[in-house]
Amino acid sequence: MPVPEPHATGLLVKLIAVGVCRSDHNLLTNENQPAWFQDKFTLGHEGCGRIVGLGSKVPPSAGYKVGDVIALLAVPGCGSQACEECAADLAQLCTKAHRSGIGNDGFYASHCVIDMRGAVHVPEGVSPSQAAVATDAVTTAYHAIHRRGKVTSKDTVFLFGLGGLGFNALQVIRAIGARVLVSDVKQENLNDAAKIGVSKADIVPVGKSIRDWVDENGWSDKISIVADFVGTEQTFSDAQHIGMLNDRRFDQSSHRCSSSSG
Ligand SMILES: [Zn+2]
Ligand SMILES: [Zn+2]
Repeated sequence: MPVPEPHATGLLVKLIAVGVCRSDHNLLTNENQPAWFQDKFTLGHEGCGRIVGLGSKVPPSAGYKVGDVIALLAVPGCGSQACEECAADLAQLCTKAHRSGIGNDGFYASHCVIDMRGAVHVPEGVSPSQAAVATDAVTTAYHAIHRRGKVTSKDTVFLFGLGGLGFNALQVIRAIGARVLVSDVKQENLNDAAKIGVSKADIVPVGKSIRDWVDENGWSDKISIVADFVGTEQTFSDAQHIGMLNDRRFDQSSHRCSSSSG
C-alpha cells in the first residue's frame, strides 16, 4: 500500500497495533455492501499508531505533534451540525466522512491518515494493543452499558454473553459498581469472570435454565437491567422474560459492533 498524503485536518500515522474484529469477517463475506463503500479498500478499524506527519490546517491548539502515540477512532463522522447523524451524536452512522476499514481504507497497512477528530492520545500505562481494541470492542460495550443501559451503582444487571464485547461489558459494569449476574455457554468464560471477582452465587451454571435460576434464587424482582451481548432468539426471549417479571427499566443491546451498526 502506498503511504497516503494527509488532508488539511488529517494526521499521517505509522501504525503500531491493529485489532482484528469479527466485523472484518462480515465485511469480507457480505456480498451486499452499502453503495457508498469503495469497490476495494483496506480492512482494519481498531488502530493505534505514532503521528509522523500533520495536515496543513491542524492547529497547534489541537495538541498533536509528530511522535505522539494516538488511538484511532475509525468512524469519527464529519462533525457537521448540518449532518443528521453527527448532529444526533451518531457519528458512527455518518456516511459523509471517511470510515477507516469500513468501506474506506483502514489500518491493515504500514500507514494511514486519520482526521484529527478521530485521534485520542494514549495515556501512559496503556499499551498500543490495548488502545487499539479500546476504540471498538471496549467502546461498543461501554456505550451499551453506560449510554443505552444507563447503569448506575444501584443497579443489578443480568448480563448475557462473555465473548469479546460481553467481557468488556462485565468490566464496565463492575467499574461502575453495579452488581452483575452473568450467563454464558462456555465454562472457561465463567471461570474468567470468577477470576476477576464475580462471586459464584452470581454466575448461572452452564446448561441451567435462565428462568429457573432467576426464580429459584429470588432475583426476579431485583434485576433492574438486562444486557444481551449474544443476540440469539433464546437470550432475547429470556431477557424479555426477566424484563416482564419485574416490569422495571429494561434495555437490550446487541453484540454487533458500533462501527457497523451503531
Ligand atoms: Zn468492529
Ligand atoms: Zn456527519
